[in-house]
Amino acid sequence: MEQFATSRTKMVQEQLLARGIVDRNTIEAMLTVPRHLFVDDAMQGRAYGDHPLPIGAGQTISQPYIVAMMTQALELGADDKVLEIGTGSGYQAAVLSRICSQVYTVERINSLLARARKIFDKLRYYNIRAKLDDGTMGWPENGPYDAIIVTAGGPEIPQPLIDQLNEGGRLIIPVGDQNVQELQLVRKNEGQVEIVSLASVRFVDLVGEHGWNK
Ligand code: SAH
Repeated sequence: MEQFATSRTKMVQEQLLARGIVDRNTIEAMLTVPRHLFVDDAMQGRAYGDHPLPIGAGQTISQPYIVAMMTQALELGADDKVLEIGTGSGYQAAVLSRICSQVYTVERINSLLARARKIFDKLRYYNIRAKLDDGTMGWPENGPYDAIIVTAGGPEIPQPLIDQLNEGGRLIIPVGDQNVQELQLVRKNEGQVEIVSLASVRFVDLVGEHGWNK
């Protein structure tokens, strides 16, 4: 609908461009993906606001700026294969799917996964494959990946994710305690990892074998 397209353009201008997001792929994708479809009907009017929103099961869809910052940091190209841990609403996966050829996403809560899958189908985003599992183990069958994005915060970088990263690959993950985390960007070069901290953030818990306990 026209009303949402206007809100979306405004979101990109005021929250992304004004704050220094420059990556064309990220900007184009966030101008395209109908973010309002990824939240409950009652919250659609707030979908383009400068904040996260609840999506049920105690989880949240990230603030648009955080989605943009993380996507931009991955330096994605059209031929890249990307893995996301924490499908949630499906919005971040949808953004990735407009930039990259193949997107794999893992979610541990069935109700969220089922809802996200329905939206991917409705939008005909057929290059996204999603499964129910503990994403701290990665998705080894389809790896290695050019980029991995973890959208929940954990105490450490899960080793399986580092193992499933391609040579030259990028991994972004919030690492810290359950209140505040550092957004860490990991780059794998000649088998070595180099880590840079990008920002202080607050994400919901990464729960699993290499995350917080259940
Ligand atoms: N990327 C999502 C953000 C969702 S919030 C979006 O765009 O909406 C983070 C999600 O990570 C939650 O849905 C939570 O259930 C999920 N999660 C937490 N630990 C997980 C794990 N070990 N494996 C897969 N998903 C996990």
